[in-house]
Amino acid sequence: AVYRVVMPTIFERVVSREIPAEIVYEDDEFIAIKDINPAAPVHVLVIPKVASERLDTITDEAHMGRLFMTATKVARSLTPDYRLVVNVGPGGGQTVFHTHVHVLGGWGEDGPDG
Ligand code: 5GP
Repeated sequence: AVYRVVMPTIFERVVSREIPAEIVYEDDEFIAIKDINPAAPVHVLVIPKVASERLDTITDEAHMGRLFMTATKVARSLTPDYRLVVNVGPGGGQTVFHTHVHVLGGWGEDGPDG
């Protein structure tokens, strides 16, 4: 048999408080932290505490629903308008293989390209 060793990602270490992060929201299922290298005036990551590698490996529809419900609530608490972005796989720009939703915003009325 071939075994693949799954290394803990940086986000598991954030969840377990091994690595410090600026937490903006937390409940039993999710944690939301400020991105260390923000790509927008508001850039937060909404991270399920139970790791899945990428969005399309989630099989629990209710969990995926709560992930996006939580992302919209966190986003609305920070900025009226925003983008939710999920990078899926290396070719989709994913670099941390622990599913997360990017909340990007804070550009003002003219939007990200204004
Ligand atoms: P991805 O490219 O996988 O969609 O997004 C990973 C994001 O995690 C990037 O925006 C990157 O800046 C952020 N990131 C990587 N390492 C850390 C970290 O240790 N702490 C925080 N807060 N964000 C991180």
